[in-house]
Amino acid sequence: MNAAPGEADVAIVGAGVVGLACAAALSRAGRRVLVLERREAIAREVTSRSSQVIHAGLYYAPGSLKAELCTRGRELLYARCAERRIPQRRLGKLVVAAVSDEIPALEQLTANAQRNGVPDLEVLDAGQVRRLEPDVRVEAALWSPHTGIVDAHALALDLLAEAETLGAQLVCRVEVTGIEPAAAGLRVTLRDSDGAAATLRCAGVVNAAGLDADRVAACAGLDPETLGWRIRPCKGDYFALASGAPLRLGHLVYPLPAGEGALGIHATLDLGGRIRFGPDAEYVEDVHYRIDAGKADAFARAVQRYLPGVRAEWLSPDQAGVRPRLTAPGEAPRDFVIEEASQAGVPGLVNLVGIESPGLTAAPAIAERVVALLGAL
Ligand SMILES: Cc1cc2nc3c(=O)[nH]c(=O)nc-3n(C[C@H](O)[C@H](O)[C@H](O)COP(=O)(O)OP(=O)(O)OC[C@H]3O[C@@H](n4cnc5c(N)ncnc54)[C@H](O)[C@@H]3O)c2cc1C
Repeated sequence: MNAAPGEADVAIVGAGVVGLACAAALSRAGRRVLVLERREAIAREVTSRSSQVIHAGLYYAPGSLKAELCTRGRELLYARCAERRIPQRRLGKLVVAAVSDEIPALEQLTANAQRNGVPDLEVLDAGQVRRLEPDVRVEAALWSPHTGIVDAHALALDLLAEAETLGAQLVCRVEVTGIEPAAAGLRVTLRDSDGAAATLRCAGVVNAAGLDADRVAACAGLDPETLGWRIRPCKGDYFALASGAPLRLGHLVYPLPAGEGALGIHATLDLGGRIRFGPDAEYVEDVHYRIDAGKADAFARAVQRYLPGVRAEWLSPDQAGVRPRLTAPGEAPRDFVIEEASQAGVPGLVNLVGIESPGLTAAPAIAERVVALLGAL
């Protein structure tokens, strides 16, 4: 093991965007931070497989952590991108009512977004939508000008760079296998890729383990089943639009939410202007990223509700991501879990569980919350 683990105040389990945002914020607060990542590099799991959308905060229940941390995270993220030259574009997004029956749901979403304090929203009629996006045919749409896109990998690298400049250390290829209270703080057990074990002591541990946050909580003696923290991986596939396809988009276009926390198969743009459609939602037993090319027809049908010109033969499998979801199929969406574990007998451990969308947007605000929770240590 090539680290000097004994030196840390806080160990962070997981080098995705959330763990790295915590590393940067804790380092800024003067903590000596060690980031422990089982993979060979940062941001190889959920973070690298998202829509890379900076969400405005339209969907989440007012007063929820998702609503609060998304709206705060959005502002922090845009400010960080501007200050540190991280590639982003504030493209704006349309959430569409494809048929008139959907207008009441669009009005409900608008009211929800307003309660969340999302600024500068506008409801557009069919003609206004068409002037903005000539290929989109719908009855009405909610226009959210502060939704945007960001280069998630550049963001993760920038957070790591800030943390390292302030003295944090990243150790890859080490898996955290145990966390237990010790005389002064916590004892963390690690295993490296050769199977060698080591331990370190620190005052605090942040469990930012994404799809394995329930397992990491369990290795600290917490019971994910009784806490309602069992993660049910929910895969989402994307299909890319062929570059020569006769379709142009300048903004993100989303249908109304599909229920169960899924936003519906939407049209996203990346920073190179490439159009992708997705993600769908399919619960999986084991995490994998295979895409069934036969889904192209179903994707085309979903997208044709608002982009009638799209043809299945223009679509090809692109990427897949897996959501660390806390709900089983059919259950209502759950909020993020952000909890310090003193009550469970593990003081100094902060668990971040179920950090699915809008976790990329919320990451800087989640990190602020973690700094506050560990403040008393
Ligand atoms: C399909 C999809 C689309 C999405 N779209 C958006 C979007 O447009 N906008 C948005 O805001 N959010 C979006 N999200 C959500 C967002 O991507 C996540 O909330 C965010 O990336 C989660 O980051 P994380 O750091 O928690 O997890 P991860 O990036 O998965 O990082 C966790 C890390 O922990 C490591 N780890 C796990 N166990 C251990 C262990 N025992 N020891 C050491 N290391 C360990 C893993 O290897 C991993 O690197 C999307 C998610 C998905 C799946």
